[in-house]
Amino acid sequence: MATVAKLVEETSSARTIVFDVPQWKRHCAGQHLDLRLTAPDGYQATRSYSLSSGPDEAPQITVERVDDGEVSSFLVDIVEDGDTLEIRGAVGGYFVWTPRLASTRPAPLLLIGGGSGIAPLRAMWRSATTNVPTTILYSAQTHERVIYRDELAAHESATVKIHLTRQEHDGYETGRIDSRALNAAVGTGTPPHTYVCGPTAFVEAVTQALMPLHPDASMIRTERFG
Ligand SMILES: Cc1cc2nc3c(=O)[nH]c(=O)nc-3n(C[C@H](O)[C@H](O)[C@H](O)COP(=O)(O)OP(=O)(O)OC[C@H]3O[C@@H](n4cnc5c(N)ncnc54)[C@H](O)[C@@H]3O)c2cc1C
Repeated sequence: MATVAKLVEETSSARTIVFDVPQWKRHCAGQHLDLRLTAPDGYQATRSYSLSSGPDEAPQITVERVDDGEVSSFLVDIVEDGDTLEIRGAVGGYFVWTPRLASTRPAPLLLIGGGSGIAPLRAMWRSATTNVPTTILYSAQTHERVIYRDELAAHESATVKIHLTRQEHDGYETGRIDSRALNAAVGTGTPPHTYVCGPTAFVEAVTQALMPLHPDASMIRTERFG
């Protein structure tokens, strides 16, 4: 059982929930939790949520409300400080980035997220040391929906490019993450360890554009939220 220790309103439709979990073991950046809600009549719903905190921090998740969503609307609108929630985790061994991977195969880090798909990528950039060259490409619909806006703006050691698909805004790219943006992010040096996360359609579109540009497809890992 995890106790809600803190709530951070990231946007009007997304919030971060920081948990207090007794005897929490260190997680890997990219892993997720399975969270189960039980209604008074016994009805249960289970959903997965990526850990958005670094391995040395308390476990946190960042949830974006899906319209009419059963679990996400409860987590974004109803959950309060001090509530307890049933979780299982940390889960997952494929979509993970560890300093060990960085030392066994040194390469830059390329993090590509769409919408709430930025959540596990935050765990990665928070755990990467500053000597790992990091590029973050993030796609959101509007400026207001950019999750971790301040943290991204203040990031000193990563190259950050945020694409807005439904709005023009100073300091942001307009339109989807396309082949040109991916080509620039992959670069011409050592191929980057690349992580793509977000809604299924986003991940499919990005990986299709990315495959011909990336010299080593085995270095691309994906996570679909759909
Ligand atoms: C490994 C993994 C990690 C995940 N991590 C996160 C995370 O960090 N943050 C986060 O917000 N979500 C994350 N998700 C998605 C999350 O598990 C739920 O699917 C999401 O919160 C919707 O659940 P719901 O009960 O609110 O919606 P449901 O009641 O299940 O669905 C309501 C409606 O929304 C549609 N729908 C469901 N999920 C999505 C979606 N992701 N995008 C668009 N439409 C959708 C459904 O088809 C349905 O029409 C993750 C999913 C996986 C598999």
